[in-house]
Amino acid sequence: MTGHEECPSCPRCRAGICEIHRPVVDRWKVAVFVVSGLLLLAGILAGYFTPYPLVGTALLLAAAVISGYGVLKAGFLALIRFRFSIAVLISIAAAGAFLTGNAAEGATVLYLYAIAEFLEEYAAGRAERSIASLLDIAPQTARVRRDGGETTVGVGDVGVGETAIVRPGDTVALDGIVTAGESSVDQAPITGESVPVAKGVGDAVYAGTRNTDGYLEVRVTKPEAESTIARVVALVAEAQAHTSPTEALIERFSRYYTPAVILVAALLVVVPPLAFGVPFVEAFYRALILLVIACPCALAISTPVSMVSGITTAAHNGVLIKGRDSLEAVGLAGVIVFDKTGTLTIGRLEVDDVVGFGVPEAEVLAVAASLESRSGHPIAKAVRRRAEKMGTVLRDVEEFASVTGKGVQGRIGGAAYLIGNPALFPELPGGAWQTAYNRLEGEGKTVVLAGTASAVIGLIALSDVVREDAKKTVADLRARGIRTVMLTGDNERVGEAVARRIGIDECHAGLLPEDKVAMVEELMERYGLVVMVGDGVNDAPALARANVGVAMGAIGSDVAIEAADIVVMEDDISRVAYLVALSEKTVSVVRQNVTTALVVKLGIAGLAVLGLVSLWMAVAFGDMGLSLAVIANALRIGRAGS
Ligand code: ADP
Ligand code: MG
Repeated sequence: MTGHEECPSCPRCRAGICEIHRPVVDRWKVAVFVVSGLLLLAGILAGYFTPYPLVGTALLLAAAVISGYGVLKAGFLALIRFRFSIAVLISIAAAGAFLTGNAAEGATVLYLYAIAEFLEEYAAGRAERSIASLLDIAPQTARVRRDGGETTVGVGDVGVGETAIVRPGDTVALDGIVTAGESSVDQAPITGESVPVAKGVGDAVYAGTRNTDGYLEVRVTKPEAESTIARVVALVAEAQAHTSPTEALIERFSRYYTPAVILVAALLVVVPPLAFGVPFVEAFYRALILLVIACPCALAISTPVSMVSGITTAAHNGVLIKGRDSLEAVGLAGVIVFDKTGTLTIGRLEVDDVVGFGVPEAEVLAVAASLESRSGHPIAKAVRRRAEKMGTVLRDVEEFASVTGKGVQGRIGGAAYLIGNPALFPELPGGAWQTAYNRLEGEGKTVVLAGTASAVIGLIALSDVVREDAKKTVADLRARGIRTVMLTGDNERVGEAVARRIGIDECHAGLLPEDKVAMVEELMERYGLVVMVGDGVNDAPALARANVGVAMGAIGSDVAIEAADIVVMEDDISRVAYLVALSEKTVSVVRQNVTTALVVKLGIAGLAVLGLVSLWMAVAFGDMGLSLAVIANALRIGRAGS
């Protein structure tokens, strides 16, 4: 077995989920269970069928010490430090059973408890391995072009900048950019979307995705360990390690709870014999049962296993949830806020109209396109595309500056020009342009002005396409009782038009990036938990401010992947509804688990006080059985989610 330090190239090791270097099932533990199980059986049989009860007790003691070593040790260490843990409860119960002549039960308690613990570990590990299995999708070798020929080398040996060859049917081994060829690629392992995506020169491809029928040459852009999929796995592994608020609550709760239980058990030993004449040994035995039943294991694992199950399922569906608290919060949020451009709409604007005032349209386009050639805004891209189509010759721009949320400015041939919304032209007198502006805006278009500080030379009207699934997603959310809000930097009319078409409850337009943050704050005040969905790059501040920031279409954007709380890889708005459904499901499973655990335990405790349950039954049903039920219920999240 190699240690983690010895395999730095293994991304699983770095994620702490390496099943090669940290085996799934500890053989040692299995051996311990087999040996102590046989001893337990032999001890019980010897007690019943041989005239030597001491032999039986000795065998049972051996079984107890072997299977219960871990718990007894932990219990002892906690007790001498005056800390009350679950191990303390179990240890006292087992020791008490031996002392009162119930050796078989004492050994059984420890044995079943150890198995329950083992199963819990296994269940948690299973979810982690399911995440790690994502990494197995990326091949261990890649075909690269070297010295004029093709060679197959280990992915760890491929350098950034090398050319990888991806044949039809191959799985892409490393992240990169296509330099030759055309194909479609199934990106389901990363995005959860199984419809293949067309890839040509200049497009990004990702490790772990499957090439269908074309031939591709790919310039490698990232070393294996930094590929998108490795990153996803590492982030999910990290999320699995964090605790959610509910978990923290249960943890805090058990700090007071355990001593309280011990106190009640002590009272049960003393009071009934004195007050009701119950035999002391009987009272003691019932108190032990209470200790076992009170053991909050099933309660303690009920939340984490559900959370891990939810996070894992989401990851397999292209939704990366970076913390358990985020998963919980989405299901509890009363309002979801969407950015308009690029989130509810495709974000690919098209120029519909160009209007000139006293100058030809071509002049308006030339000025606008020259300035916009320096901007990366969707509006700028649309203007450039139109100019290219018209064969417009671009002019030199000096002193270029972009004014966030308003537009751009710069000098062309000595004159200062501005392109943007009316907020960029505070000194502009009204005039002919206003009629045209109002008309175009009334058509639900985004209109920008082109001109100088004091005169408009033209208008450009653009429109964006609303995403097909946006309406259905908003309807889905509404059916779940979630209020939907849209924020946009675009004008009121466009905002209202889009909001009405999609069925959004509330729309706030004309917002600068800082207004969006303020709006999110206001919504948090009004509605409590706020989830914000945006593209993760433009909307980063608002995403960061919301309780949960969801970045959509983040594949290929490391910034967005790092910054958001939840990352939807695919540019697919319907995943927001999926996410909410998954989160609600997870929250409800957590509640079911916690309630079931409490009810069953209270029930058994009641029966125990009446003397109707034995110690081993308490462990079998009230602890181990319950833990198993809770785990099984949590795994249900995975099945329903996909
Ligand atoms: P959103 O993403 O919500 O639509 P932005 O903050 O990106 O908002 O843009 C808000 C508004 O600012 C746009 O609708 C447009 O009027 C103006 N604007 C921003 N950038 C540019 C640009 N490069 N050219 C022209 N107008 C722009
Ligand atoms: Mg935007």
